[in-house]
Amino acid sequence: MNRIIQIVNAIEGYDPDALHVDKARAAIRACLAPVTQTERLPVREALGRVLAEDIVPAIDVPGHDNTAMDGYAVRFADLGPGETVLEEIGAALAGKAFSGTLGRSQCVRVTTGAVMPAGADTVVVQEVVTVNGTKVTIPPGQKAAQNVRYAGEDLKRGVPVLGPGQWLRPAELGLIASLGIGKVAVRRKLRVAFFSTGDELASIGAALKQGEVYDSNRYTLHGMLSRLGVEIHDLGVVRDDSALLEAAFRKAAANADAIITTGGVSVGEADFVKPMMAKLGEALFWRIAMRPGRPMAFGRIGNAFLFGLPGNPVAVMVTFYQFVREALLAMSGRTDDCALPMLKVAAAEPLRKVAGRTEYQRGILFRDGGEWKVKATGQQGSGVLRSMSEANCYIVLEHERGRVAAGEPVQVQLFEGLA
Ligand code: AMP
Ligand code: MG
Repeated sequence: MNRIIQIVNAIEGYDPDALHVDKARAAIRACLAPVTQTERLPVREALGRVLAEDIVPAIDVPGHDNTAMDGYAVRFADLGPGETVLEEIGAALAGKAFSGTLGRSQCVRVTTGAVMPAGADTVVVQEVVTVNGTKVTIPPGQKAAQNVRYAGEDLKRGVPVLGPGQWLRPAELGLIASLGIGKVAVRRKLRVAFFSTGDELASIGAALKQGEVYDSNRYTLHGMLSRLGVEIHDLGVVRDDSALLEAAFRKAAANADAIITTGGVSVGEADFVKPMMAKLGEALFWRIAMRPGRPMAFGRIGNAFLFGLPGNPVAVMVTFYQFVREALLAMSGRTDDCALPMLKVAAAEPLRKVAGRTEYQRGILFRDGGEWKVKATGQQGSGVLRSMSEANCYIVLEHERGRVAAGEPVQVQLFEGLA
C-alpha cells in the first residue's frame, strides 16, 4: 500500500503549514479506501446503510396498466366533440378487476389503482361526469390516455434500479419493498473509535478540580457519529501520558476503521499525542488555513485512518463536519457526492472576515418577510460551544474573501435536513 505521505505530497499546491481547506479535503480523499465486507439485512434494518449489490426487478411496477384517478374508464374513440352519453356496465376497484371487455359506447366505473378494464384506454375523472342511472354523461375536452398509469412505468422487469454504493434512504426502502424483496446486501457498518486527550479533562461524575473542564468533545462526537450511522467505540478520556496514549491508540487501531482524537495537536501542546501518532503509524500534522480549527493531524495507524482533531469544542465540530464526515461516508462505501450543499443567501449584517483563510462562522438562517437571510450568532470563539447550539447553519466565507457588507450574498451550509 502506498504511504499516505507519498500520496499527499503528490497533490499540487500541498503545503502542510498553510493548507487550503480544499487541499486538505483532496488529500484525505486521495488516501481513503472503503470497507469491503458485506452483510444481508432485512429491508427495514438497511435504512442509512450502503447497498452492496444490484437490485434488479423480477416484476414490473406497477404490474398492470391501472387507473390514476377515481372516475370512469372509457374508449377514447367513443367520445364525440360535444357531450357523450355512455352506458356503465360495471366497476373495477383497486384489487378487484372488472372481468369483461368494454364495447362501443360503454364505460366502467373505476377507483384509483384499479386494473384498466380490457378495451378501455382513457379515464375520465368522477368530478366532471353526470350520472343518471347507468347513463354517464362525459363532457367534451377529454384527452386520449389521460389518467392511466402503465405497467412498468415506475420499475421495469430486468432493468437494474439501484446499485452498489447507493445510500439507502426511506425512498429506497420503499422501492425495494415494492419489488417484493425482503433482504438486501449492504456494506458492514464503519467502526469508529474515539477518545479525548488532555490532563485538564474531567469526566462527568467527577468533581472539577482547579483548572479542569468537563470533557464535552466525546459527547458532541457521539452525537455526530450516531447520526452518520457508524458503529461507535468510545474509549474515554486519555491523560497526557505516553504509556496510556500508546495503549489507547493500539486498542483503537486493533478494532476500528477510523480513529478520532481531540486535543493535543496544536503547536503549544506538551509532546505526547503527536509523537505517539508518529511512532505508531504515519501522521501528517497540518495547519489548515481556516477558522476555527487550524491544527489537525491526518494519518494511519495499522489499518485505521486517523483524524487528530483540535481540542477546542467548536473546532472539533467544524473540522468533523468539513473533513471527517465526508471521509467516513466515503469509507462507508457511498459513491454519491457526500459534500454538504452550499446555499447562497444575503447577509443581514456586516461580517468580520480576514482574507487568506476559510471561515466557518456560526450563523442563524432566518426569514425576513419572504426572504431568507443569515446573521452570525455573536461570540465566535472556538471555545464557545454555545455559538454552535444557537446556530442552525455555518456561514462559509471563502479563503480569498475579506469583510462582508450587509446585503452581500454569502454561502451557508445547513445543520439539519429532512429528519
Ligand atoms: P488543545 O487542542 O488540546 O490545546 O485544547 C484546546 C482547548 O480545548 C483547551 O482549552 C482545552 O481545555 C479544550 N479542550 C480540549 N479537549 C477538550 C474536551 N474533550 N472537552 C472540552 N474541552 C476540551
Ligand atoms: Mg490539550
